Amino acid sequence: MAKADLHIHTTASDGRMSPDEVVRQAVRLNLSVIAITDHDTIAGISAARNKASIYDLHVLPGVEITTSFGDRECHLLAYLFDMDDELLNILLQKHQSVRIRRAHQIIEKLQKKGLELDIDEVLAEADTSTVGRPHIAEILHKRGYVRSVREAFIRYLSDKALGTIHTDYCSFSGAVDIIQDAGGVAVLAHPGRMYSLKELEQLTDKGIDGIEVMHPSHNDEIRSRMEKFALEHCLLASGGSDFHGSKKSSYSHFGSLTISEKQVEEIKACAQRRKKIVA
Ligand code: AMP
Ligand code: ZN
Ligand code: FE
Ligand code: FE
Repeated sequence: MAKADLHIHTTASDGRMSPDEVVRQAVRLNLSVIAITDHDTIAGISAARNKASIYDLHVLPGVEITTSFGDRECHLLAYLFDMDDELLNILLQKHQSVRIRRAHQIIEKLQKKGLELDIDEVLAEADTSTVGRPHIAEILHKRGYVRSVREAFIRYLSDKALGTIHTDYCSFSGAVDIIQDAGGVAVLAHPGRMYSLKELEQLTDKGIDGIEVMHPSHNDEIRSRMEKFALEHCLLASGGSDFHGSKKSSYSHFGSLTISEKQVEEIKACAQRRKKIVA
């Protein structure tokens, strides 16, 4: 049976493996379809597609867009959009700047707590990748403030530890519209532990096409609940490992947390219908 993983990060954002390495690993793990879904960037996709062309592996265009939903950040996955779409590219470009400003704010907060680190160090750690909290966590680890990235999140970088950060991410509904106007499919990421039923209904009302049912943060009970929610609301059921590239990590479900080819076909059919409407 063909297996697909539609949630994977690479070094284009906060993953540890390059797009090439991810493709080689996906082939070893017998996956037949993957989507590269880096945070707010599509920079890793072409390299992954080039590499995959020598194997029997399909790489779908994907991205995990950070959006604002009330005062929260909400991750929205997009698939099978036109990679040259102007508005989508403008949104992703804007989010790169938003993330740099956000990193400045986070560093200031940490400095106030007495930690010595500066923005240049964090930006150098991220290099050409989308900058995010994992890069700050890495610096905190290197400086010996914490014993692990996990501890950095618990002590300093969780939403609770950070408090309010003013960001200017695109609104959730604006991002759904941009994805769909670009001929893509909009899927709510890891909904299981993030939202109340009421919030899930509100997000669904913004016109998403699907939700992640399979995700490492979902236990069996959440998975069944999400499956039922998708069925009742005529939403596509998607998912993947949310792989960030560490073979050592116990959070690595790459190769084992998958969806079926039939589910991928349904996502593709949605994109095809959309392209006919957009065109
Ligand atoms: P950001 O994009 O800056 O909001 O950071 C979010 C990313 O941080 C997620 O995609 C994960 O890669 C990582 N992350 C979030 N929570 C944790 C955690 N508790 N431990 C390790 N990494 C985390
Ligand atoms: Zn991440
Ligand atoms: Fe996410
Ligand atoms: Fe992710």
